[in-house]
Amino acid sequence: MTQALSRLSNRLFAIFYMIFGAAQTRMNHQTIIHHIVQMNKKQTSTEIINEVAVCFKKIFNYRLFAFVVKKEASVDVWLDPGRYQHAFESILLKDFKSVSKNDITYLNRTFQPGEHEVRQDLSDLIFYELREENCNCRIYMLPEKRANRWDDEAVHLIFQGCSAALSRQLKIEYLRDAAVIDPLTGCYNRREFESQLKRSIAGAARHNKPLSVFMFDLDYFKRVNDTFGHLAGDRVLEAVSLLVRKNMRSGDILSRYGGEEFIAILPETDQHKAMELAERLREKIAGHPVMYDNQIINVTASFGVSQLKKNSDMNRMIHDADTMLYKAKVNGRNTVMPGVIKIVKPKSQPFRKESSL
Ligand code: GH3
Ligand code: MG
Ligand code: MG
Repeated sequence: MTQALSRLSNRLFAIFYMIFGAAQTRMNHQTIIHHIVQMNKKQTSTEIINEVAVCFKKIFNYRLFAFVVKKEASVDVWLDPGRYQHAFESILLKDFKSVSKNDITYLNRTFQPGEHEVRQDLSDLIFYELREENCNCRIYMLPEKRANRWDDEAVHLIFQGCSAALSRQLKIEYLRDAAVIDPLTGCYNRREFESQLKRSIAGAARHNKPLSVFMFDLDYFKRVNDTFGHLAGDRVLEAVSLLVRKNMRSGDILSRYGGEEFIAILPETDQHKAMELAERLREKIAGHPVMYDNQIINVTASFGVSQLKKNSDMNRMIHDADTMLYKAKVNGRNTVMPGVIKIVKPKSQPFRKESSL
């Protein structure tokens, strides 16, 4: 009797699974197709990856998802949630041996580095690889439940759908980047800076929003080259520009203006806020010596800040920032001009009646 009941319940379960499992699979197929259509409409690789992540979230309800795009000497990472950054980074450095921490760029900067980090063992992390002619990617995932045969099939379907779109977009971006990016520092080049600044000025005037720029130049950089060599100088330029980029908002645009001179566009930022940011960056640069060949290279930078004025233009803005940078050099370097004036409140004194003589 018990055996018969057990057989019956097993059979019912199998039927139940066939009906509802199939329905679930059909629903998942529809979800995947919907997202593949969306992926193919996107204009940037980050948007495509974002769509892949939304699709994965719906299908697997992941706890952790990372999309890693391997480039020549670096990796671009889309990570959700950001609080796994620290734990995930160690996996990444192990899996991509030629990549160092400085070579990792996060595509979705909705989190602050180091914020609420989860230090968790990620040994259950599974990964899938996607290889196309110009597209070498990996997806890492910590699924909510154990992966099964259908999961692999679903991943395969999503990959098929996104690979064409992603590969095409990466090719376009590679060609575009080659024309607008400075190869040493990864910052925009001067030509691209000028066209972006023109656009930013037009936008700021149209929406009546503030716009600022800061320019900075490394102090006594010739000495760095003379003392440590030109390659060490290159390493300093890379490290400083990366440090600055990491400490700016994602909407800010940093460009290499000339040799060891950089300029940044700060949309929706007034002069005072720009001066505060420049001051923070100046401190960061001075506080982060660059290591090269077991040698410590101390660097500082001088900053000039300017804000877009009424009826002003690009040349005027750059000229103003350049004049301020020159003043910062004359004022002893490692400084920001105009400088932030810190008003230090005196400690409140208890009222004391002065005795009159
Ligand atoms: P100051 O504080 O007045 O700015 O002094 P400085 O020595 O930085 O200024 P100067 O303009 O005399 O020197 C800039 C140096 O930057 C000279 C040049 O060789 C070096 N430089 C420019 N571009 C590069 C580069 O791509 N790599 C390296 N390593 N050095 C560069
Ligand atoms: Mg210099
Ligand atoms: Mg210079």
